[in-house]
Amino acid sequence: RAKADGRNLARFFDPSMQDAASRRASLEAAMREGLALGQFQLFCQPQFDCRGRLVGAEVLLRWQRDGELVSPAHFIAFAEESGLILPLGEHVLKESCRALARWHRDPTLARLKLAVNVSIHQMRDPDFSGMVAGILDDTAAPAERLCLELTESVFAENMEEITQRMHEIRAQGIYFSLDDFGTGYSSLAYLNRFPLAALKIDRSFVREVGTQPGSAPIVEAIIALGRKLKLEIVAEGVENEDQRNFLVRGGCSSMQGFLLGAPLPMAEFEHVYSAAGIGHA
Ligand code: C2E
Ligand code: MG
Ligand code: MG
Ligand code: MG
Repeated sequence: RAKADGRNLARFFDPSMQDAASRRASLEAAMREGLALGQFQLFCQPQFDCRGRLVGAEVLLRWQRDGELVSPAHFIAFAEESGLILPLGEHVLKESCRALARWHRDPTLARLKLAVNVSIHQMRDPDFSGMVAGILDDTAAPAERLCLELTESVFAENMEEITQRMHEIRAQGIYFSLDDFGTGYSSLAYLNRFPLAALKIDRSFVREVGTQPGSAPIVEAIIALGRKLKLEIVAEGVENEDQRNFLVRGGCSSMQGFLLGAPLPMAEFEHVYSAAGIGHA
């Protein structure tokens, strides 16, 4: 992962800046400035249940930088290393809760859930649950519509502290799901210690369904595991009908992917998916 990020970040750097430290400082300054200028924008990808009904959306961050749309794959790892993930993550949560509060007043969007990616670095911040409570309070967002997506890095360290923090946030009405399930460090023995509502099947498994003989049983096993643990199963990266049919037959709760809908800028998402087109039309 570090290797890929290094390569991707390279294009932000002035080639004349030789040493890593000054390149990092320059990227950090650009990100701080971008944050202040509102260059970090929320995109939303729709999620559908197995009958094809819209049930929610996932927030995906984009950096609108000098007319270019930069993918989070290119800046999240750096944001984590530099600590910028805290203000960046706060921005994402605030804007997400503002959206939920807006949706609450719209007949079509009011019943949708909104999933927000949260970094383990945010979960380690002792002020995180208080910050979340403050945002819910300020925005009057319906907490039970918000789901925070964590990755399996929650298994890696300080499980006690992270679990405790998850419980504090769960007590506010917010749900949790485990993202990219099966790709990281999972310990099944600990899975039920976290207050989880859903598992997300990583798109690498979904992609291989129908092409790699070994993948279908893995997806089936994840769905069965989720059911046993009374968790919802969300599949990501659904790109064709074969994948969708397989997941529907297998009993997946909901899914997202380019077949069903690409991530759209928040205002466009609201325009497309709300019958009324709340205020943005
Ligand atoms: P993720 O949470 O697993 O998000 C799913 C990724 O799959 C997104 O990439 C999405 O655009 C992409 N995707 C959706 N449908 C399809 C499909 O059918 N085919 C393919 N090939 N890809 C699809 P994206 O937007 O580039 O985000 C990458 C990762 O960056 C996310 O993975 C998430 O881990 C992270 N990320 C995004 N936004 C945030 C954020 O606000 N905070 C944090 N901490 N991480 C974020
Ligand atoms: Mg996610
Ligand atoms: Mg995911
Ligand atoms: Mg993923």
